[in-house]
Amino acid sequence: MEICRLVNVKKSYESGEEVTPIEQVSLIINSGDFICIEGPSGIGKSTLLYIIGGLLDATSGDIYIDGKNINTMTDKELTDIRGDKIGFIFQDSNLIQALTIEENLLFVQSMSCKKKDYTQIKYYLTRLGLWERRNYLPSEISGGQRRRAMVACALIKDPLLILADEPTNDLDEHWAKEVLSLLSEAVDNGKSVVLVTHNTHWAEKAHLRFDLSQGVLYRKI
Ligand code: ADP
Ligand code: MG
Repeated sequence: MEICRLVNVKKSYESGEEVTPIEQVSLIINSGDFICIEGPSGIGKSTLLYIIGGLLDATSGDIYIDGKNINTMTDKELTDIRGDKIGFIFQDSNLIQALTIEENLLFVQSMSCKKKDYTQIKYYLTRLGLWERRNYLPSEISGGQRRRAMVACALIKDPLLILADEPTNDLDEHWAKEVLSLLSEAVDNGKSVVLVTHNTHWAEKAHLRFDLSQGVLYRKI
């Protein structure tokens, strides 16, 4: 089943000197796809991921999520899709600073249409080594623990599409592998993952690999 489709997407930033990190990208994301987009820092990976997630407007081209063109969606429709169908692991922390890790997860769960399920919260906190830290604020844990908490927040929604922006940053080998395992398990359960990374080492689990270069995606495998 098709989850997301990008058709001839272009993105320019016009603040100051014009930059066009995305020249022309077309991409279809189906359920069960594990896609990795690789490229050096500053090439446009985060920009592309934001566009896929409907968080950033493209300069031109069309983006369809769940069969619907996002240009024709109301703000509410787009917010609902983002809240329910898309799990975003951002490059920088988006945890709510005033809430504990557990409260952050409860909040994300309450924002999605899924039923409240504390078992799932406990499961992800345990898998990601955060159970003992669940009552700490984001400012009271390490960068790696915050990254893992962000992964838990994205997974707890059980979204159709997981967009992971350098999710292994700040993680040692053990936790990076655990995060990759969780993303692979989501794919095995029929979800789609788009992972962007500058570190090719973490791209190996992907079924489809692309290099982003000069605003265009080049298929690697
Ligand atoms: P990557 O994630 O691959 O490191 P980004 O998508 O963050 O790359 O950035 C791609 C290019 O777009 C960079 O040259 C960056 O400086 C520029 N850029 C990113 N965000 C903005 C913005 N909000 N305004 C202007 N330029 C931006
Ligand atoms: Mg980035």
